[in-house]
Amino acid sequence: MTVIPHVIDGEEVESAGGARFDTVDPWTRSPWAQVALGGASEVERALAAARRAFDDGPWPRMGFAERGAALHRLADLLLAHAEDLGRADTRDMGKPITDSRGTDVPRAAMNFRFFADHARLAVAQAFPMDSGHHAYSRFEPAGVVAAIAPWNFPLMLESWKVAPALAWGNTVVLKPAEDTPASAHLLACLAVQAGLPPGVLNVVHGFGPDAVGQALTEDPRVDRITFTGESGTGRAIARAAAANLTPVSLELGGKGANLVFADADLDDAVAWSIRAVFSNAGQVCLAGSRLYVARAVFDEFVARFVRAADALVVGDPGDPGTQVGPLASEQHFTKVRGFLDEVEGLTVTGGVGDGWFVRPTVVVGAGHGDRICREEVFGPVVVVHPFDTEVEAVRLANDTRYGLNAMVFTQDLSRAHRVAAALRAGTVWVNCFFIRDLRAPFGGMADSGVGREGGDFSREFFTEPKAVVMAVARP
Ligand code: NAD
Repeated sequence: MTVIPHVIDGEEVESAGGARFDTVDPWTRSPWAQVALGGASEVERALAAARRAFDDGPWPRMGFAERGAALHRLADLLLAHAEDLGRADTRDMGKPITDSRGTDVPRAAMNFRFFADHARLAVAQAFPMDSGHHAYSRFEPAGVVAAIAPWNFPLMLESWKVAPALAWGNTVVLKPAEDTPASAHLLACLAVQAGLPPGVLNVVHGFGPDAVGQALTEDPRVDRITFTGESGTGRAIARAAAANLTPVSLELGGKGANLVFADADLDDAVAWSIRAVFSNAGQVCLAGSRLYVARAVFDEFVARFVRAADALVVGDPGDPGTQVGPLASEQHFTKVRGFLDEVEGLTVTGGVGDGWFVRPTVVVGAGHGDRICREEVFGPVVVVHPFDTEVEAVRLANDTRYGLNAMVFTQDLSRAHRVAAALRAGTVWVNCFFIRDLRAPFGGMADSGVGREGGDFSREFFTEPKAVVMAVARP
């Protein structure tokens, strides 16, 4: 069986005592690889390597152009290995191969290219002072970054953390989710091949609580923690980080509202709304899982939406024709099934399938206070509600403890701006979904997170901005 080792200090290594755990393919529901199970000694080795590479190594001292060139080489290698990387995520978590190979790998490569160029082209600020002094800013690398990632977009979200951290001269210890170790291992091997010095990007596998994840967040040698995952885990990490005053960036859960007004282009709204909640089998923090539709078009919209949901191809994620694969693990499938058990009789289409499958599911008539409307289901399940006025639509959308994203479908320009401003969310998409400009802020408010990443926002997090003040003219 395939073995997936850690990558520490530029070397593939097993755990000190040889401990391993299985990673399970959710399509076959059988283990497909064994993974080195990290513990305290692997965290120790990885942090020591990352510390050495930062304190004494060439990476933080290199010019932006040279560092950027290495990251572009890594992006080239990611694209050249798109098949292996795509298959790795598909086997680990059941994402359709068309998405893992065709979307996630190119987006990961783009993250490395973007942050390499963004760092190289960034300008520092200068502040000429009336007193004859001159102040300017420098953005210096923060140090060792612990990056802790979830399983839903393994490679893509890891690159979203690792790329800006490296571009700004930091070194990294990455802990992928325990369900999805394979692509992180390949990423670290390709980084070595791209010429990144030993210790610059380390990958340690294992679990979170009382394990490698927690150990990383409690270690005073870590200068930044960037985490994506559940809100509850985010709270635990913030508590651990507080002991050392380690800055944290938390990208957490969501319960995205999707508002369809009566004047929307309904074909367009149906197509985007389907994508918003059923892609990646709904295992998307940004999923438009609460769908609010103007009463005037409610019946027509729901009928079209259900037809489109039923037409999605559900099946083997390794088949290029598949649009919806199984849920990522048995544990996660059981959680999603629990939500569906609570709304039996309200399901217009969908429901539990064979194996760890949930078919695209549409629920109409649930109470706004019901668990399915309030908690993150993280599956291919949408609850649909009618609304009568714009004010009511905004009130319903904002009636959540999350604040990651929302979607608005309307042809009325004034309404689009008005509603986008009124929604409490880190990102609002108008007449689209999931379109990103990597310079824009990305993150959430309330239970959806702390801080923003992207462009200059990532620079703020992954550097220590410094002011230098010089006397340039004597009075
Ligand atoms: P999770 O919180 O269970 O795990 C995420 C990672 O944290 C894993 O690597 C896990 O091992 C680690 N971990 C768990 N407990 C830990 C601890 N105490 N200390 C340190 N590390 C710990 O999340 P998940 O189930 O892997 O991912 C799904 C969640 O991620 C959903 O809530 C989803 O909305 C969220 N998510 C958010 C975004 C975003 O950008 N806001 C993007 C993707 C996913």
